[in-house]
Amino acid sequence: MTIKIHPSHLIASLLLGLLCTASSSFAADKPFVWPKGAKAAVNLAYDDALDSQLDNVIPTLNKYHLRGTFYLNVVSPTLVTRLEDWRAAAKQGHELGNHSIFHQCAKSQPGREWVAEDRDLDKVSVIQMQDQVKVANSFLHAIDGKTERTFTPPCIDLKAGGANYVDGLKSEFVAFKTNFGGVTPDMNTLDPYAVSVDFPSGVTGAQLIAVVKEAAAKGTMANFTFHGIGGDHLVTSKEAHDELVKYLADNKDIYWTDSFVNIMKYVKQQQAGSRIAK
Ligand SMILES: [Zn+2]
Repeated sequence: MTIKIHPSHLIASLLLGLLCTASSSFAADKPFVWPKGAKAAVNLAYDDALDSQLDNVIPTLNKYHLRGTFYLNVVSPTLVTRLEDWRAAAKQGHELGNHSIFHQCAKSQPGREWVAEDRDLDKVSVIQMQDQVKVANSFLHAIDGKTERTFTPPCIDLKAGGANYVDGLKSEFVAFKTNFGGVTPDMNTLDPYAVSVDFPSGVTGAQLIAVVKEAAAKGTMANFTFHGIGGDHLVTSKEAHDELVKYLADNKDIYWTDSFVNIMKYVKQQQAGSRIAK
């Protein structure tokens, strides 16, 4: 038996189908689209303005034409001894992110015996800390001339003197990293001021690559914040780091690896677009 469908019914049902598709595609669960058909974004970030980053990371990223983010605490000695190297990194497209001036962390938290009394975030007021982070922005502007950047609070501590200090700094930044976890669960519902990040140390290249593969499978984003690479503290070996960087460079069709400021500007544009469409 053949079923005959009158052409006008067919057109009507096609139109209905299109309308349903259109309305549902603007829902919060629509697939998030990365530039150039990439499956995931990856941000390679590095905290604390360390020598090993200037020696072992920037030459590797440049070799593969990838850009990362370096969260500088202004008090770090390399901002005096190697200022021109940081300036050159910015010119090469790397982001100089804000990691405060003095890198205060809350001494009251577990495992914080290393925090100096004079750099105890529990003893700094909200206004003092906010002022210092703004001054760090001015300092970074003097190095790179940029007016847009992102912020990682030292130790991911959000409270100064027991009260939240980061919320009042949102207008100064494109995005914050304030949570633990390397792979973003969902791009559409991501709060740009509560992005999660892994802090790898002592891991293998294969372990790092597994994280970016998980982000590609989800269509979301992987964020790493390293410290020392092949030296300094919380060390990741140069071999493991380079294995990840080479993997990302070999798979540029799958992974958009860029500075956090560039990735998050794109994410915010996409989120604003889907909100307008709804
Ligand atoms: Zn730090």
